[in-house]
Amino acid sequence: MPQQPLAQVPKDAQWYWQEHGACRSADPTLFFHPQNERGSSRSRRDRGAKLVCASCDVRMECADYAVRAREPYGVWGGLSEDEREQIYARLDSRHYPRAKGEGLRVAADDIEAAVSPRALGIA
Ligand code: SF4
Repeated sequence: MPQQPLAQVPKDAQWYWQEHGACRSADPTLFFHPQNERGSSRSRRDRGAKLVCASCDVRMECADYAVRAREPYGVWGGLSEDEREQIYARLDSRHYPRAKGEGLRVAADDIEAAVSPRALGIA
């Protein structure tokens, strides 16, 4: 059985922002895909999670954490797993952004685009 990838939690990670996440009152199954979910089902669920993230007061803190931690699973800060994989793939693993704020710096355009009207299917 292949090893499951784990998030690499940064040493300076803080969690206070999670108390203010819009997802606290949302359906948790929106944010993590069930096994073998693919195609349009996954896109629909991701879009539902992104809609919650789009109105979240702590989206930047969440996205910064997820990129820095290389979170493998779920929608974080409006970024889907596939969108984060694209970010991880282009970053140099020897100088990976680990400090607070660096996730936002290296993925600013992706984070903005993640909840654009197009990404949310409303454009
Ligand atoms: S950005 Fe999305 S996943 Fe992150 S705390 Fe807010 S609602 Fe939850």
